[in-house]
Amino acid sequence: MPDRSPNPSSRRRGLPPRALAALYLAAILLPLALAWTGGLDHRRLSMMLAAGAGIASAAMILMQMVTSGRFEAVSGRIGIDVTMAFHKWAAPTALVLALGHALLLVGPPDAAHPHRLARRLLRMATEDGLVDGRLALGLLALIVALALLRERLPLRYEIWRASHALGAVALVGTLLWHIASDARPAGLTLPLWGLFALAALVPAAGVYLRRLTRPAAADWRIASLRPVAERLWELRLDPPAGGGLAFRAGQFAWLSFGGRRLPLFDHPFSIASAPGLPGLRFLIQEAGDFTRRLGRLAPGTPVGLDAPHGSFGLAEGTGPVLLIAGGVGIAPILSVLDDLAARGDGRPVRLVYACRSPEAMVPDDLLRPACDRLGVVPLKLVDRGAGPGLAPGPLTEAHLRALLNGLDPGATQALICGPGPMMTMAADTLAQLGLRPERIGYERFSYAVAESSARDRRMLSGFAALFAAIGAAVLAFALV
Ligand SMILES: Cc1cc2nc3c(=O)[nH]c(=O)nc-3n(C[C@H](O)[C@H](O)[C@H](O)COP(=O)(O)OP(=O)(O)OC[C@H]3O[C@@H](n4cnc5c(N)ncnc54)[C@H](O)[C@@H]3O)c2cc1C
Repeated sequence: MPDRSPNPSSRRRGLPPRALAALYLAAILLPLALAWTGGLDHRRLSMMLAAGAGIASAAMILMQMVTSGRFEAVSGRIGIDVTMAFHKWAAPTALVLALGHALLLVGPPDAAHPHRLARRLLRMATEDGLVDGRLALGLLALIVALALLRERLPLRYEIWRASHALGAVALVGTLLWHIASDARPAGLTLPLWGLFALAALVPAAGVYLRRLTRPAAADWRIASLRPVAERLWELRLDPPAGGGLAFRAGQFAWLSFGGRRLPLFDHPFSIASAPGLPGLRFLIQEAGDFTRRLGRLAPGTPVGLDAPHGSFGLAEGTGPVLLIAGGVGIAPILSVLDDLAARGDGRPVRLVYACRSPEAMVPDDLLRPACDRLGVVPLKLVDRGAGPGLAPGPLTEAHLRALLNGLDPGATQALICGPGPMMTMAADTLAQLGLRPERIGYERFSYAVAESSARDRRMLSGFAALFAAIGAAVLAFALV
C-alpha cells in the first residue's frame, strides 16, 4: 500500500496575497525613498516627476523577473492565474511610467516658443548620449507589444518564449547602462541598482542552472502513452531510481521531453493522479505543434519534471466538495477525486463533467474506481450526442443548483477546471448561490485574455490599487 500520510514538502508554500503585495510595494518604494534621502533634487517639478516615474518603472521592470510564474514563494498561495495576470498587467504599467519619464524630460509645449518642443523631441530622439535610454524604452515597448499580441502572431510559442526571455535579460542590461550613464546618481547609486538587478535575475538564472546541471539519473521516464479519447492522451511516468514527487492533488508540473533541458521547452500539465503513488499520470489534449507530436514519443523517453507548482486544490476543511470539470479540465479534478477516494474521505462529493461529445470524454475506467469508492454518481454532460448516462449540456445554473441540492452552500467548496467561459459562469453562479468566494477555486489552462469572473474583477481592482499606490508615491516623491 502506498504511504498516504501528509508529506511536509507537499504543504502549501509561498506567501499570502497581502504579504506579497506589501513586499512588492516595498521593493518599488525603496529605490524612490533612497533617491529622495540621497538628495536627488531638481528645481522643476516636471523633472522630479520624471525622475520618480523612471525610478518606479525601473524597479517594476526588475520585479517582473520574479513574477514569471516559476517561483513557488510567489505563486504557491495565490496561484499561477493570479501570478501571470499580475505579470501581464505590471508590464504595461511600467511602460506607461517609462513613457511618462521620457515625456516629462522633454517637457511641456511652450506657446511662446513653438519650436522648442520640436527641438527637444529631436534631441531626445537623436542625441548620441541618450541612445541607452532610447534602447531601454524601445525594448520595453517591444516586449510588451509582443506579449499582448502573442496569440495573433504567426510565431511558435517556444520562439516567442525565447524572445521574451532574451529580451528581458537585454532590457535589464540596457536599463543598468541607462542608469549608469544618464540617470543622476543619488542615494541609490549604480552598485545598489546592480544589486537589485542581481536579486531579481539570480532566481531566474537559478532555474536555468538547476536544469543544465540536472543529472540524467534524475530524469523521469515515459512508462506508457495511450489515446483515451478524441485527441486526448493518457501519459504515465515512472520516477527516477529512489525518487518520487510529493505534491498536493490538483497541482501541475512543467514537463520537457527527450533530454531537452532549457525551461524554454517546458509545457505545464496538471498531474491527473493522486499523491502518494510512485508514478504520475497526465491527461494531455492535442492543442498545437508540441501536443500533436506527443503520440510519437516512445516508452522509456526521458522526461524533465519541474514540480510541484500551483495552488489549485482543496483547502483545509471537511465541508462538502463540488468538482466541476470541462474537457481536459478533468485532469486535476481526477487527481483530487482519486486522492479523496484513496484517503477514504467521508464528506459529500459531487462531480459534474462536461464535454463537447461522448467521444471527447475520458473512459469510465479512469473515473469509476474513485466514484464507486466515494459513492459519487457523476453528472455527465455533452453538447451533442446525449444518450444513456449522458445529459445534454452545456453546464447551466440549473445543473449547479441541482448539484448543490441538500448541501450547505456556506460550508461547501468548489473546484472548477475547464474552458474559460465555463469557469467564469460556474464561479459567478456558485457565488450567487451562496458559496463563499474564497471557497471557489479555479485554474485556467491558458494565460491568454479570458472573460473575467467577479473574482477576477476583484483581483484586477487589487492590482489597480497597488499601481495607484505606486503612482501616488511618485507624486509624493516629486512634491515633498
Ligand atoms: C497550469 C496549467 C495546467 C495545464 N494542464 C493541462 C493538462 O492537464 N492537460 C492539457 O492537455 N493541457 C494543460 N494545459 C495546457 C497546455 O500546457 C497547453 O495546451 C500546451 O502547452 C500546448 O502546447 P502546444 O505546443 O501543443 O500548443 P501551442 O499551439 O504551442 O500552444 C497552444 C496554447 O497553449 C499555451 N501554451 C503553449 N505552450 C505553453 C507553455 N510552455 N506554457 C504555458 N502555456 C503554453 C499558449 O496559450 C498557447 O497559445 C495546462 C496549462 C496550464 C497553464
